[in-house]
Amino acid sequence: MTTLVETIEALDQRLAPLHQQASTIGLVPTMGALHRGHAALIEQAKRECSEVVVNIFVNPLQFDRKEDLQRYPRMLESDVDLCRRLGVGLVFAPAVSLMYPDPPTVGISIGRLGNHLCGARRPGHFEGVATVVAKLFNIIRPRCAYFGEKDAQQLAIIRRMVMNLNAPVVVVGVPTLRAADGLALSSRNQHLSPSERQQAPILIQVLREAERLIRSGTTDPALVVRTALELVPPDRGLKVEYLEIVDPRELQPVEVVDDRVLVAGALWVGSTRLIDSVICGPAGTEV
Ligand code: AMP
Repeated sequence: MTTLVETIEALDQRLAPLHQQASTIGLVPTMGALHRGHAALIEQAKRECSEVVVNIFVNPLQFDRKEDLQRYPRMLESDVDLCRRLGVGLVFAPAVSLMYPDPPTVGISIGRLGNHLCGARRPGHFEGVATVVAKLFNIIRPRCAYFGEKDAQQLAIIRRMVMNLNAPVVVVGVPTLRAADGLALSSRNQHLSPSERQQAPILIQVLREAERLIRSGTTDPALVVRTALELVPPDRGLKVEYLEIVDPRELQPVEVVDDRVLVAGALWVGSTRLIDSVICGPAGTEV
C-alpha cells in the first residue's frame, strides 16, 4: 500500500512508529515525472531498507531560469501509480508553500564544489539542491538516501554536505540508467522532438570518446576535450554548454589525466538542456 502524504503532520504520523521500531528508512528525493532511472533508485532502496519514502518536489530554489521551472513536467498521479507498482510505502509530495513558507534566509553553501561544471553555469542551483536535501533529511530522518550518478556534481556535493555537517545519513550513489542507444534517462527527455531525440545520444558518445582517449593514454585534458568534441556535428540545434574533466571529489579541473577523473558535459538539444557524465581513468586505474 502506497500512501501519499502532503503535510509534515501526516508524514510525522506515518514515520513515528517506523522511527520507534528503528526501521531502516530509505529516502529517494526526486522532482517527479518518474522514469526507469528513478525506479532503479527506488528498487535499490527497497532492497536495502525496510521502508522507502519517495519525495516528489519540484524545488523552486534550484531553478536558475524561471521558464525551466514553469515547464518542468508535473504528473503526480502517474508518479504515485509507479511508486505503488514498485511497492513504495510513502510518497511525500509537499506544496512549495509548505517547504518555503518564507523565502529561506539560511541555507547550505557549497564553496568551490560549485565553481565548475553545472555549478558555474547555474548560479545558486546546487545551494538550492543542498538546502532542500538538508531539509528533507531533517523532516524524514532517513538512514540512507539514494542519488543518481548521472548528476555527478550533485552526488559529490551531497556526500560532502553529509560529511561536513555530520548528517546521520548514508548516501548511496546509483549507476545511470540509459536507453538502448546510451541516452541517460531524464525527465527532460520528454521535451525532445523525435528528431532531437535521435540527436541526443551524441552527448554520451562524446563522453565515451573522451573515456576511450583517456584509457588509451591521452593525458592532456584539453586535447581529450577537443578531440571528443569533434564528434558533435555542426548543427544549429546542438550546442555544447561545457565538457570538462575534473577530479571526482573536489570537482576541480585536472592539469594532467593521470588518475580517476570525472568527465562531465552539458548539451543543449534545441531548447532542452541535457547533462551526463562518466568516471574513468588511464588503463590500470580503478574506477
Ligand atoms: P530528478 O527527479 O531529475 O531530480 O532526479 C532524482 C534522482 O534520480 C537524482 O538523484 C538523479 O540523479 C536520479 N536520476 C535521474 N535520472 C537517472 C538515471 N537515468 N539513472 C539513475 N538515476 C537517475
